[in-house]
Amino acid sequence: MTDIDPNTAEAPVKLATVRENIAAAEQEARRPAGTVTLVAVSKTFEADAVRPVLAAGQRVFGENRVQEALGKWPALREDFPGIELHLIGPLQSNKAKEAVALFDVIETVDRDKIAAELAREMKKQGRTPKLYVQVNIGSEPQKAGIEPKETVAFVARCRGEYGLAIEGLMCIPPVDENPGPHFALLEKLAKEAGVEKLSMGMSGDYETAVAFGATSVRVGSAIFGHR
Ligand SMILES: *Cc1c(COP(=O)(O)O)cnc(C)c1O
Repeated sequence: MTDIDPNTAEAPVKLATVRENIAAAEQEARRPAGTVTLVAVSKTFEADAVRPVLAAGQRVFGENRVQEALGKWPALREDFPGIELHLIGPLQSNKAKEAVALFDVIETVDRDKIAAELAREMKKQGRTPKLYVQVNIGSEPQKAGIEPKETVAFVARCRGEYGLAIEGLMCIPPVDENPGPHFALLEKLAKEAGVEKLSMGMSGDYETAVAFGATSVRVGSAIFGHR
């Protein structure tokens, strides 16, 4: 966990800048204002560093580890109503129970074992977090996600075999490549798979993602500072 530092004291200011940039990118792309949801990625930052951003009105947040999120969000939820929490990091099947209990959106469904486990837990708990499939858009060996060419079939299997209502696709393009073609591919796969939501774009490329049709962008360091 990172201590509060001068970076995070500026978080509300940076948040406002990111919101302005998103609005400008929406306009530039001739997309209706407010179409793109900002997911503020608070991973590695303590609850006290997140509070100013909540106080500034931000309500949608992303975390990449179930355990870390469990440590800070239950208390924050008591203080701030209307929080929507997204899991954006890899999910182990032994954490499915906690993930279903805590998160409103799970963006990292990427294999049959997880789909089956989530289906079981959702039934058991009577909770229905929204689900996105993570696509390994650059087919990188070290990265999580389903291969692009298997995506449409996997979404169909999630729906047909496990009864999961998959609503979106998520991707993280390779770091050193132009993200545009990767975003375009994700958009194409979403159309083919029949899903509406596109989670793509981070601090370095969220405006590009808006141009390529992102419905949500996941922005961490541009709001909270360096991790
Ligand atoms: C950390 C993380 C982000 C945010 O990254 P920044 O570059 O800090 O904006 C977005 N998506 C995922 C999946 C992440 O793990």
